[in-house]
Parts: sequence; C-alpha cells; structure tokens
Amino acid sequence: MALRKIVTQGDDRLTKRCRPVTDFNQRLHDLLDDMKETLTEAQGAGLAAPQVGVLRRAVVVLDGSDELMELVNPEIIYQSGEQTGPEGCLSVPGKWGLVTRPSLVRIRAQDRFGNWFEAEGEELTARCFCHEIEHLDGHLYVEHIDHFLTDEELEAYFGEDDDGEEESR
Ligand code: ZN
Repeated sequence: MALRKIVTQGDDRLTKRCRPVTDFNQRLHDLLDDMKETLTEAQGAGLAAPQVGVLRRAVVVLDGSDELMELVNPEIIYQSGEQTGPEGCLSVPGKWGLVTRPSLVRIRAQDRFGNWFEAEGEELTARCFCHEIEHLDGHLYVEHIDHFLTDEELEAYFGEDDDGEEESR
C-alpha cells in the first residue's frame, strides 16, 4: 500500500465525469487499498478516486461504526429526510460550508470483486455518500454553499474544543 497525493480544487481531474470500473483486478484492489490508507492518514471521512487523480467510479467512506466501506460504481437508489450541517473536503483543505443533504441515503454499489450490494447510511454517512458520489460526476460541495464558514461559525457548530482536525471528505 502507498499514500497517494490528494489533488485540490483547481485541478481539472476534479471536474470530470468518471468512467465506470469494469475490471475488478489487482490494479483496482491496489487503488482501493491506497485510497483507504490515504484517507486514514488525512483523517477524513470519505475519499473518491478522482481526488487521487484516478477518473474511475470508486470511493471509500467511513460508515456509522468507523469502518471503511469500499464502493465501486455506487449509485443512490433511495433518499429521504433532510439535514443541514458543516461539510468539508480533503480537496478543499481547511474550509467548511453549510450543505443540506438527505438524512438517510440508500446506495447500490459493487465490491472490489464485482459483487453488487446495497447499504444504507444516516447522518454523516448519508452526507458522505452524497458528497463522494458527486465527486464521481465532477462536482464539489462548494457548488452548494453561499459562503465558507467563518471561525466563529465553525466554533458554533463544532464547539469550543475544536482541535482543527474535523473530518473532511
Ligand atoms: Zn470531497
């Protein structure tokens, strides 16, 4: 496994629609392993392949039990409710904005061997599913916000004990 460089806003690769994964081979497994290592090192909650410069439909997301899920060719099949909260992105370092997302999201995806499965997420996981799948279509969360949160606004959301290590996606 190896850490990969996370590309940041302004890089063309973050604006492209990614192609489906068709080969469930060692190359894909290496990519997913590297993405998990990179995400853990960056202390994020989710990472999409285009964020490490690979234009394929693959993401890793922290689930409700702090386990990393691998989602290949993911799609949202059901969503309900609404939540508004701070959202960040490892490709937009150090910034946060308020984004409204569904509070429950059900997805369908393939695992690293090509087997289809379904999964459901609430709260942060639901937010992550939406955020990461948007990356695969070349979109960033900043398209949903009217401004980046100020330090005062961040403190109001994250509390006084903010250690500057909130999870980014
Ligand atoms: Zn992101």
